[in-house]
Formats: sequence, structure tokens, C-alpha cells
Amino acid sequence: MDNNKKIIIAIDGFSSSGKSTMAKELARRIGYRYIDSGAMYRAVTLYALEHGMILDGGNVDTTALTAALDDIRIDFQPCADGQHTLLNGRDVEKEIRSLRVSSSVSPVAVIPAVRHALVAQQQAFGKERGIVMDGRDIGTTVFPDAELKIYVNAPAETRARRRWLELQQKGDTDTTYEQVLENVVSRDHIDMTREESPLRRADDAVDLDNSDMSIEQQNAWLIDQYNRVAGA
Ligand code: C5P
Repeated sequence: MDNNKKIIIAIDGFSSSGKSTMAKELARRIGYRYIDSGAMYRAVTLYALEHGMILDGGNVDTTALTAALDDIRIDFQPCADGQHTLLNGRDVEKEIRSLRVSSSVSPVAVIPAVRHALVAQQQAFGKERGIVMDGRDIGTTVFPDAELKIYVNAPAETRARRRWLELQQKGDTDTTYEQVLENVVSRDHIDMTREESPLRRADDAVDLDNSDMSIEQQNAWLIDQYNRVAGA
């Protein structure tokens, strides 16, 4: 397929809906670049935590973080086990998935200056097209002209159980299911009610409730969607 025919695929949805797993696999199968926009918000959050910009009680020092945005560089590096997120050259893939970061990321992601900086970088990643990007506002704000938009949803309990099992498998046995559920519900709320680019289904998105689907079924469903749109 030549470059002109490459499309943009936007996959939005709630936290822990399995959209990243699906998006990554689709990109691998069709030879597209994959960008995890949530990882970018997580990396900025880790920077804020490490620089004392998340105050007691969880409030963010917006002025300090806004002033620091030019000093935050986020890149992605291909690795044997997938793609790793780099924060100013440092591999932070593991740290950005911790509950500590998950608990602070939504308040960071409501800050308009943070969103403007990251959206601009995400749009730059999509310049050549041939990209699969997942997040909350990809089909509505980052790439409103994306040829294929998917909106993934599943009940909070289903998503929290998946996320908890994932943490357990990664060796985090301290975090309880209840803590994860609380985090998922609170992030859903903040993501849907924030002023700037809230999580919202794009009018032209295709819905997917993957509660009762295996990963393989989801991958097959997504490839069908891609073939339908790209005419491959
Ligand atoms: O997708 P993930 O759960 O890793 O995203 C982490 C957080 O980053 C979300 O809860 C949301 O607050 C924020 N986010 C966002 N816009 C995006 C992607 C993620 O606000 N496009």
C-alpha cells in the first residue's frame, strides 16, 4: 500500500477497556505505527510527581507544570516486548503503569496547557498517516478527520478486574481489586466531565463493547473494520 492510501485509526474509550492491547496488535498486523496517547499523559504525570508538582491532597501545581512543559520530551522506543515510553530519554514504561501514576494522571490531563502540548505532538506523529492511536479524544480532537474511529466500552467492574489481573501478573500483589475499581471509576468521572476535550464518542465512531470477547475475537473484529474502511 503506498503512503497516500494510509489512513488514521483512532481508538477511544474508558480506562482499562483493552483498547491499547487491541490497537497495538492492529498496528503490528497492518504495519502501522502505534501511539499510546495515555502513556504521554502518564509520562507528564510522572515528571510532575518527581518534581514535587503534585501537592498533598492530589492538587497539581498547574503554574509550575505549565512552565516546565518545554523541558518534557516524550518518545517511544521499540523493544523486544513491545514499545517503551521514554521521558527525557529515560525508559519509564514500568513506572508510568503504577497505581501512583494512575491516581494522579486524570487531574494532570485536565490542564489545558498539558493537553495543548500533547495534542500538538500527537498530531505531528500522525502527519505521515499510517498510524493507530488510542486515547480519549483522538477521534474528536486530535484527528477529527480519522478515516476509522472506534469507541470501546465495557462496565467499570469488568475493566477493573482486567486491570487488577494485569497488575497481579506483573507482580504487584499489594494493590487490591477495590483500589483498582475506585481508580477506574474516578478516572472515568474526571475524563468525562473535564472542560477540555472530555471523553466523548465521536458521532461517526463505531461502537465496541468487548466485555464478552476474547482478545483474538477483538483483534479479528478490528481487522474487519480496517478492511472495510481501507478496502484492503
Ligand atoms: O489510556 P490510559 O488509561 O493509560 O490513560 C491514562 C489517563 O490519561 C486517562 O485516565 C486520561 O485521564 C488521560 N488521557 C487523556 N487523553 C488521552 C489519553 C489519556 O486525557 N487521549
